[in-house]
Amino acid sequence: MKLDNNQYRIIVESSPNMIWRAGTDTLCNYFNTTWLNFTGKTMAAEIGTGWAEGLHPDDYDLCLKIYLDAFAKEEAFEMEYRLKRYDGVYRWINDRGVPYYDHHHQFAGYIGSCMDVTDKIEGQKLRDLAQKDGLTQIYNRQYFEQLANIEFSKATRFQTDLCVAMIDIDKFKCINDTFGHFAGDLVLKMVAQTINESIRSFDLFGRFGGDEFVLLLSNTNYSDALMLITRLRQLLDTIEINYNDTLIHVSASFGLYQLKDETTLEKVMIEADKKLYAEKHNLKNQLDL
Ligand code: GH3
Ligand code: MG
Repeated sequence: MKLDNNQYRIIVESSPNMIWRAGTDTLCNYFNTTWLNFTGKTMAAEIGTGWAEGLHPDDYDLCLKIYLDAFAKEEAFEMEYRLKRYDGVYRWINDRGVPYYDHHHQFAGYIGSCMDVTDKIEGQKLRDLAQKDGLTQIYNRQYFEQLANIEFSKATRFQTDLCVAMIDIDKFKCINDTFGHFAGDLVLKMVAQTINESIRSFDLFGRFGGDEFVLLLSNTNYSDALMLITRLRQLLDTIEINYNDTLIHVSASFGLYQLKDETTLEKVMIEADKKLYAEKHNLKNQLDL
């Protein structure tokens, strides 16, 4: 059974979503009650481009670009932006717009539906703050260890392969001393990003502290892990980090260890750290020659 116009109107006006409509000229010509209650403005103030006055200045350009680009292509879009609420507080809005067509299948404009997703976005930000390292945006040590312990338990229980690699940037102090702390920060970010982009989604990668990183590879034996490490080593060797037009080269040392009969993750990490130390020691001996 079809809904009549009046029933559609009730659905739109009582929807918890904020709903808008725009004509083919991109100007808005309708907002539902939920939208008007949210912004605290009148229909007359919102129509045309009035609604855009409530956009956060930092989101204004991107929001209008996404909106106008979608219009030009008559494509659906989804975006998030901050919009001023009736009480002056900016809230994050998720907005989905779709083109609609008249009885003659002619493009007639857009209809959009929005939700306040501030709580979701702020919750994610808080989680990120607790789980990620502020500089590199990979897991911090505490969260890495939390996830790694779960993988360790699985590997010991189901007798599956597990490798841990400790990674330490070579002569990082020298990079800081030569180019400054900001250059050092950039190097840490680039190294983290390079490794992060080269591993599988279920590998765990975290910043252990300072210039040291840690990688946990579940269901991976030593020879496969070694192949990955070799690839990472080569990748790091090839990147050139541009800091104020100076190219900085980096290399890193790796300590790779496969779980044997260790009873805790900490013991596995200690073994990987010993391997790292041995590699550093070898490197220093070679350089002293
Ligand atoms: P090696 O070749 O033996 O690995 O020596 P290294 O110089 O890389 O390592 P070392 O442990 O001697 O120095 C690490 C330095 O990293 C010391 C510390 O000041 C610096 N550092 C730690 N955290 C940060 C950070 O977040 N940013 C920057 N720029 N430097 C950091
Ligand atoms: Mg180092």
